[in-house]
Amino acid sequence: MTAITFHGHACFLLEHESRRIIIDPFLTGNPKADIAADRVPKLDAVLVTHGHGDHLGDAIPLARRHGATIVAPYELAQFCASKGATIHGMHIGGAHDFPFGRVKLVVAMHGGAVEGDDGTHTTHACGFVVTMGGASIYHAGDTALTLDMQLLQGRVDVMLAPIGDNYTMGIEDAARAVELVRPKVVIPMHFGTFPVIDVDPAAFERAVGSRAQVVILRPGETFTR
Ligand SMILES: [Zn+2]
Repeated sequence: MTAITFHGHACFLLEHESRRIIIDPFLTGNPKADIAADRVPKLDAVLVTHGHGDHLGDAIPLARRHGATIVAPYELAQFCASKGATIHGMHIGGAHDFPFGRVKLVVAMHGGAVEGDDGTHTTHACGFVVTMGGASIYHAGDTALTLDMQLLQGRVDVMLAPIGDNYTMGIEDAARAVELVRPKVVIPMHFGTFPVIDVDPAAFERAVGSRAQVVILRPGETFTR
């Protein structure tokens, strides 16, 4: 069993037995975060889909404080290393077995700039498929709807999907993404944090219909799979 706790925007904490990882820990300055960065429990790893501030967020200070490893696309990982974090660089298409579980980087269509960098560490944004405690969890990152999502069909238990539009898929495309991936459960994310991405998750639930179970988490709530 893996516990998936939403901390607002695109931030999720994944826990299985004594292992704990966080994805896209944008807590400081996130109006929807339910937890302060210094209250995050002991982490094994910090996964970062891309270098924009609303995803890289508190990753570097968290990794340093917890002695946790940052797992990210290679160039972004190098940037984090230059700021004193322990890193494990990867790239799209590659998977690796960590003590907490398996991580695979998958395609996401999005910007690659790294906030706070002069441009030398620009990279590709990614999504993650994390296999932990027997559950396969797909954090899509920030992305457009892509046909590549079909490649994950039948391989995902829980999909974490952006629905806020403007920067990522909106509701209509996110529902089509569910059609391509066919997860058992989909949890919407990346909406409501700022006015420009303020959409109604209930409309997403209606758009998905019977294709998957839609679980709408409020910040601080946990879904266990
Ligand atoms: Zn974002």
